[in-house]
Amino acid sequence: MRGLELTEYEKGQYRDRIGLYLHIPFCVRKCLYCDFLSGPAGAEARQRYVDALLLEIREKAGRMKRRRTVDTVYIGGGTPSLLTEGQAAEILETLRGCFAIQKDAEVSMECNPGTVTERWLREMRRLGVNRLSIGVQSFDAKELRTLGRIHSPEEAVCAVELARAAGFDNLNLDLMSGIPGQTMESWKYSLGMAVRLKPEHISAYSLIVEEGTPFYRMYGEGAAQDSSLPGIPDEETERAMVHFTGRFLAAHGLRQYEISNYARTGRECLHNIGYWKRHPYLGFGAGAASLLDDERFTNIRDVDRYCRAPGREYSEGPERLTREDRMEEFMFLGLRMTEGISEELFAQTFGVSVQSVYGAVIAAHEREGLLVRESGRIRLTERGMDLSNYVMADFLF
Ligand code: SF4
Repeated sequence: MRGLELTEYEKGQYRDRIGLYLHIPFCVRKCLYCDFLSGPAGAEARQRYVDALLLEIREKAGRMKRRRTVDTVYIGGGTPSLLTEGQAAEILETLRGCFAIQKDAEVSMECNPGTVTERWLREMRRLGVNRLSIGVQSFDAKELRTLGRIHSPEEAVCAVELARAAGFDNLNLDLMSGIPGQTMESWKYSLGMAVRLKPEHISAYSLIVEEGTPFYRMYGEGAAQDSSLPGIPDEETERAMVHFTGRFLAAHGLRQYEISNYARTGRECLHNIGYWKRHPYLGFGAGAASLLDDERFTNIRDVDRYCRAPGREYSEGPERLTREDRMEEFMFLGLRMTEGISEELFAQTFGVSVQSVYGAVIAAHEREGLLVRESGRIRLTERGMDLSNYVMADFLF
């Protein structure tokens, strides 16, 4: 597996590469906080969806204007571990038949600890999946129940052990802070349990109470106060959890490289880095987004409509990005990474200096201690990361 070479990456060495994302919108049961495009579906509906996905892969590959090498594949959801071995094999074989997938491509798959078996994991490894992302969220049984997750902490530990036994040497664990009832102690416990399992990567997200979810009715704006419900940690505690995470994971060899992502050196998620660096990608499946030749489009988010005309109807776009759109994205996506953005690359990409476009915004945030400019790069400070939404908003025209 290649290591991460940001400079090479940024110099456009990967210009003729593309990432592929496949969305699998099925779950055993909907978690109470989840607003992803996902939900329960029977075996027949799942097969219908897989058939549609295969059709979309073939059609989109046929419509590509020029051949590009695929350096990353990411199968997310939903719960891709609900795919049968046969369905996963068909999907991966179709991808290989339609696209030039690099030999050492990063091939990631998400899984739910409540749904994996050693046999299934071995089969995924045999099919070429070389990075597994396990949705752990918490090692506290009560917190998992609060979230409506289908698995126990023991099953999460077991999933990691099974994945190792199946030959996975690149594992991500997803963890969540800000869970109702979570305390600094229970968060430290979850982090401690996670590092004991020696993952190569940890994604630590803060819970966001999204509209339309059961959590929104329980905790969202205007929700009736119910003293029987565990409370969401206040903002100060949540920030303290995030700061502790950075220090704790760094002490265990997992360096923060993006607002919510930590990895051992060389084990950063190349697929996600592709998003932050505006590397082109094609998305397949309901609700999957694509960025190709400076055009953005998102497949229809309705699973039934998607199955009737896979990849032909859009929820958003196709939208041709203007130069201003691209500059905005360059800044607010690039600043998510701890390395920040390269001033030289901005100038090479747009033919003008970043200072001539964003000088006043950068200077204002430098004065506030939210941005730092050094060695030809601009990056967020720790406080800037805390207030990233506020900082990023200023880069919009
Ligand atoms: S398993 Fe993941 S995608 Fe499925 S409902 Fe839960 S949070 Fe959402």
